[in-house]
Formats: sequence, structure tokens, C-alpha cells
Amino acid sequence: GNGDRDKLIQAHELAAKLYHYLLMNTTHGQPALKYLRDRGVTDKQIDQFQIGYAPPEWDTLARFLEKREFDNALMEKGGLLIGKQDKSGYIDRFRDRVMFPIWNRDGKMIAFAGRMLGEGQPKYLNSPETMLFNKSRNLYNFHHARAALRKSRRVVLFEGYMDVIKAWSSGVTNGVASMGTSLTEEHAAVLQRNADDAVLCYDGDNAGQAAALKTIPILEKAGLRVQVAMLPKGMDPDEFIEQNGAHAFMRDIIEHPVSATKFKLLYAKKNHILLEEEGQKNYLLEAVRIIAVLDSPTEREFYLKELSREFDMSLDSLKQDCFAQRQQLQ
Ligand code: ATP
Ligand code: MN
Ligand code: MN
Ligand code: MN
Repeated sequence: GNGDRDKLIQAHELAAKLYHYLLMNTTHGQPALKYLRDRGVTDKQIDQFQIGYAPPEWDTLARFLEKREFDNALMEKGGLLIGKQDKSGYIDRFRDRVMFPIWNRDGKMIAFAGRMLGEGQPKYLNSPETMLFNKSRNLYNFHHARAALRKSRRVVLFEGYMDVIKAWSSGVTNGVASMGTSLTEEHAAVLQRNADDAVLCYDGDNAGQAAALKTIPILEKAGLRVQVAMLPKGMDPDEFIEQNGAHAFMRDIIEHPVSATKFKLLYAKKNHILLEEEGQKNYLLEAVRIIAVLDSPTEREFYLKELSREFDMSLDSLKQDCFAQRQQLQ
């Protein structure tokens, strides 16, 4: 019931306080604090995002919550503890990880993501789905970003926690991220109620670009206009900001998104060898297919003209192919 939900939120708030305290004020937290500082995370960011550290012991949180008379079974259901196989007690789900609290849209703490201090698997361990935490609906940082998002009618979508945090400090206060899942229709519906435009700023590696391509139609179906802010090859927003600074991130990346169509064309281009005739032809036909789905004749003509210039083709033949493609769509 509601009592359980309230208790669980309270447990998350307390756990976050404990983790934050351990990070900032104890020797146990030193390696994690060093890890964060080496990654360029400032004390202000640690404070604002309530970042913490879960120590390596088996039962630090378990004992802490037990002492405060939280029900172990409920804490297990809520994803904070794990019942031992032999039923002899409970252990902490998160150990030796940098902890990122996750808030719901009302600003209540409902889950955690825990990152390993170095390399290893899984890099991020998230809370499971619980009565509070629904991965297909919750977006990281939505409660912080909501005001800026509604004001600008624009949302920036990132892949990762660190991207959101660094971007926030760079002035992107309307940034959110999905957590360990690709963006769902439910996420898109939440965003559509608060914004008209979505800017995808996913990682500049193959996985990130493929994810962006998959996400475009989901956002468009929900009624959002989509643009894509592209990063240099292989870089993610967090790395870009570390290397080039906040100003360059705003000026060169966030403020210069390309249209969804342009992004699809660039993405398609990479799969063809344009130095060869076959490659050129195949790209042209794929490009026409991408353009053919656009509803606006003006937009279609705009991109077809660009193609005709780029490949020295007559606009007329491209238009004919585009028309034929549209017939097939119906
Ligand atoms: P970092 O900068 O800390 O290395 P990242 O955000 O760049 O992390 P990516 O590998 O780009 O990490 O993955 C993007 C996002 O996907 C992560 O922020 C996290 O939400 C999710 N993710 C990555 N690895 C895992 C995992 N093993 N389990 C669950 N979610 C994961
Ligand atoms: Mn990635
Ligand atoms: Mn990344
Ligand atoms: Mn990263």
C-alpha cells in the first residue's frame, strides 16, 4: 500500500544520505572521491546530484536500515537489499560503487544506479523494477530539468548519468537520460507533455548512433520534433566536455543540431563506399527512401536538391524515384 511506498522512499533518502556522507567525510570514501575528481566531477555536482559511495562490506546498509526498524522484506522488494540464499539474513545490493540516486518526477528518491570505480561488469548496476521505479517511464534528472524543459519547450536526451551531470554544469539544464533501457513510448509521452522539441545527444560511437536512429521514430510518433546533436567520432558528451569545455559543448554541439532527416542521411552514407559507383547508386536510392517519408513537399525538395547537387544528378530523376517510393508507402 501507500505506507510501503512512503517507507521505501524514506529508506532511499536515508541510504542516499549515508552514501553521500561516506563519500565526503570518511576515509572509506576517499578512493571513490578521487575517482570522481579524476573524472572532473566537482563538489558542487556531487552535492547537487547527491552522489555517494556504497562501501564494500556486505551489510552496511542492511544494518543501518535494520537499526531504524525498516522491514527487511520490504527493503528487498524495493531493491536496496538482497535476501541470502540460505535465508539467514540480508545483504546490500550495492557494494563498492559510486552511487547516483534516481528521483521520480516529484523529486522523491526511488532508486539508485551504482557505478564501479574502475573497469568491470556490470559497469552500472541499477535498482530493479519496483513499486517505485519503472525504467520504461522514469527519466534521470527529469525533476531537475522539468522547469527548464517547460520553459524552453525543448528537451535534450543523453545516454548516461555522467553526461546529464556534466551537461547540466555546462548550462544544459533541460537534459535527461533513460536508464539502462532504450527510450520507450512511455518516456516519449512524458516528454511530449512538457516539450515540443527533442534534441538527441547520444554517444558518438556506433552503439550511440544506432540508438539515436532507433529513438527518432519513437519521439516523432509521440509528436515531438527531433533534432540530433552529433559528437565527434567515439566521444560521449561527458568526454567532450572534459576535453573541450562547457563553452565549446554549447556552441559547437548543443546549439548546432542537425535535423532527424539529415542525421539519417549521414548515418546511411557511412554504410556505402561512395568511391565506387555501386556504392554511390545504392546510397542515392537509400537517401531517396529516407526523404520519401517526409510529409512536406518543401522539405522533400530541399533534401532532394541537396542530393542532386552533391552527386550531380538531375532533380527530376530524384523526384521521380521519390514519387515512386511514396506510392509504395501507401
Ligand atoms: P561512464 O561515463 O561512467 O563510463 P557512460 O554513461 O558513458 O558511463 P555508456 O557505456 O556509454 O556509459 O552507457 C550509457 C548508459 O547505459 C549508462 O549511463 C547506463 O545508464 C547504461 N548502462 C551502461 N552499462 C550498463 C550496464 N552494464 N547495466 C545497466 N546499464 C548500463
Ligand atoms: Mn556508450
Ligand atoms: Mn557514454
Ligand atoms: Mn561516459
